[in-house]
Parts: sequence; structure tokens; C-alpha cells
Amino acid sequence: MELKAMILGHFLAISLALNLGLLYRDYCNSQEFFSSENKLKNASLVTNRDANSYIVENTEVTSSSKAVDETIDLDHGDPTMYERYWQKMGDKTTVLIPGWRFISYFSDVKNLCWFLEPEFANAVIRLHKLVGNAVTENRDIVVGSGSSQLIQAALYAVSPPNATEPIDVVSAAPFYSSYPLITDLLKSGLHKWDGDANKFKKDKPYIELVTSPNNPDGFSRNAVVNQDQGILIHDLAYYWPQYTPISHAADHDIMLFTVSKSTGHAGSRLGWALVKDRETAKKMIEFIVLSTIGVSKESQIRAAKILQVVSDSHEHKGDFNDDEAFFEHSHKLMTRRWKQLRDAVSNAKIFSLPEFPLGQCTFTNSSFTSQPAFAWLKCESEIDDCESFLRHHKILTRGGKHFGDDEKHVRISVLPRDMIFDRFIKRLSSITSS
Ligand code: PMP
Repeated sequence: MELKAMILGHFLAISLALNLGLLYRDYCNSQEFFSSENKLKNASLVTNRDANSYIVENTEVTSSSKAVDETIDLDHGDPTMYERYWQKMGDKTTVLIPGWRFISYFSDVKNLCWFLEPEFANAVIRLHKLVGNAVTENRDIVVGSGSSQLIQAALYAVSPPNATEPIDVVSAAPFYSSYPLITDLLKSGLHKWDGDANKFKKDKPYIELVTSPNNPDGFSRNAVVNQDQGILIHDLAYYWPQYTPISHAADHDIMLFTVSKSTGHAGSRLGWALVKDRETAKKMIEFIVLSTIGVSKESQIRAAKILQVVSDSHEHKGDFNDDEAFFEHSHKLMTRRWKQLRDAVSNAKIFSLPEFPLGQCTFTNSSFTSQPAFAWLKCESEIDDCESFLRHHKILTRGGKHFGDDEKHVRISVLPRDMIFDRFIKRLSSITSS
């Protein structure tokens, strides 16, 4: 009976969403979102972020003399660094999907999250158990189109529905630059961005987004607001052993993860939430049903395969060549990049980088310091606007003010392809020595 009611509920939600979708389609067709004509027009503007990522992504093969002049775009955290590893894996990760599969909206009607593919759920649980970075027992897995959608779903789920005013959303500065934009995108009556959590002193309910390790500065974090009226959302996108020592299995109420930063498959647009409270999970699911009626099954099946291969590469090493265990490989790559980066920066008198404490990792059984996906670089001396300074040297970064911090800081992606990263190190070294 309960199952029947649930399925009926799902169909009502789907038909409502389809009707809304039809209305929205007419609106969308009249909008020019981002035409290729625009892309090309903007490609000549050095300051345009999208245009420059377009240039860099399409100029892998360039002569070294041209490379000297080329703009290096390290603004976005596009994880193309991982491409080479997955190329080496060859057909181990190839997924073949016949045309008749995944016709249905539904994956598993017995699961609260009925659009979650069981294969993906199992792969997620297996990987967390292997790495030991999060508790998966006694919680629901909610799948989303990237953890970006899950941030929105979580905000929707924990905001009081009938409050007289929107609940404040805070995160300690420097915070992930998308949080304010996502929170206020719809100018919702449910929640509103209130900035730096360190400055939140109001005696009322709030939501705190805790990112650990943090984007942009890479530090491990705990909640900072010291009040009992807070609802916490933990964004653990970077809590993986290539970036930081795994000190314990995280056990928070709402934990968000993404394949974008764990395996590098940002293009699959897939994230997952581990949610303790059933009612919260239900509301997150409601958000995803009303916004996208679930999540692509092709994506989930592909991601399941990728996660299985990651686990296999550690648990069945015999089936892989030397140096092919995923986290060993990616950890080494990050170690090498951070050494190159620190060497380039220490030669200079004008930049500095954060220093991280040594931590014991339960997964690698060794101690190491964090080697984050982003470098939070500071321009020392008289350089006040670090983003403009580096742009002048044709290095595109994201300035501190986007993260609620000062303009002496910039965020630099450490995850581009090898060639771009090497070119960046050369360019940075040349600035410092000149
Ligand atoms: N949270 C954090 C902290 C991130 O850095 C990112 C990606 N930059 C996301 C969430 C969104 O990731 P996804 O690609 O899964 O939407």
C-alpha cells in the first residue's frame, strides 16, 4: 500500500514537472544561452573566462614559441589532469549501453531515492569503505547532477518552509565562490546568503556550509559558528587521499561528494549525498524530482564503472600494472605538482602559499601534508590586485574577492593537463626571476 502510494506520488511529481518543463521550454527557446558565435567573438578578449578556457582547451598542440604568448587559464577547477590515467585504463572503463536500456524514469522503486541506480549506490558504498573517508551505514544515498545540484537540494531541504523570513546561509571565508551565487540564484523566500560564517553573531537559526578540505585554501575545517541553532551541510568534495590525509570516517548529517574531484569525471555531472535524516533525504529527493525528474542513468552507470575500477585498482592490484592503483597514482601526481609549485614560489620574493600540517592518513598508512586541488596564492609586497597582476602575465586565476577575501589572494587550479601545468610553472618562474 505504502509502495503504491509512493509510486503514485512519483507519477504526480513527474507529471507536474513535465508540465512545468513544457512551459519553461518556450521561454528557453527564445533565449540565446551561449552560442558558438558568441564563444568565438569573446575568444579574442583576454579577460573573458569562458572564452579563454575555450582557447586553452583547443590549443593542446602548439609550438613552444607560441606557448610563451599563450594565455594559461587556471580559473576553473577543470580536472583534466586525470585524463591521462583514464586513457591508460583503456577498455577497463568502457561502458556499452544498448538503445533499449534506461527508457524508464525509474531505477529502483523500492529505494526512497527511486532514481538511484543500485549499481552506482553499491560502487559508492564500496569506495567509501575502501578509503574510510565517510560512514555510509544507516543513511540514504541521494544522487544528484553534480554536487552543485545537491547543494541546492540540501539548502531547499533544511530551510524552514514556513518561516516569516529566509534563513541565513553562511560559510567561513574564504568560501567556495559558487555558494553565494547558488544560494541567491532564485531570490528564494526560503534562504539568503549572509556571507562569512566567522562574522555571524545573530541569535537565530542559520545554515552553515562547511567545506573540508576547503575550496579555495585547502585547509581541513570544522563548523565555526558556535551556536545550537545551526544546520550544517558538509561539502566533502575534496576529502580524498590524493589531496589530504584521511584522518577519520566523516560522520555528519549531510555529506556531499562528487565524481568531479574524486575521479576527475566532471563531465558526467554526478554527485552523491549521504544523508542521516530520512525527512531531509525525502526533501532533497523532492527537489531533484521537481528540477530534473531524477539523474541520468547513463551517467550513473558510467560513474559506477569508474568507481568500481578505482576500487579494483586497489583491491585487485594483480589485474593492473605497477603504479596504476588510482589513489597512489593521483597522490604522486599531486605531490609532484605541489613540489614544482612550491619550488617556483620559494624562488620568488613576491608570492607565498599556505603551509599545511603533517597528518596521518589511515588509507595510505603514512603521514603527509595536504596537496590541495587549488593553490591559494598570495601576492606579497606592493601587489594589491594579484588577479590583475597575473592576468598581465597571461595567467588567468580567480581573485580573492570572489571567495569573500582580499585581492592579494588568488585561487589557481592545480588540476589542468600536464602540458598546461608545466607551462604555468615555467611562466610563474619567469615572473619571479624577472
Ligand atoms: N563543492 C565544491 C567545494 C566544489 O569545489 C565544487 C566544484 N568546483 C562543487 C561543489 C561542485 O562540483 P560538481 O562538479 O559535482 O557540481
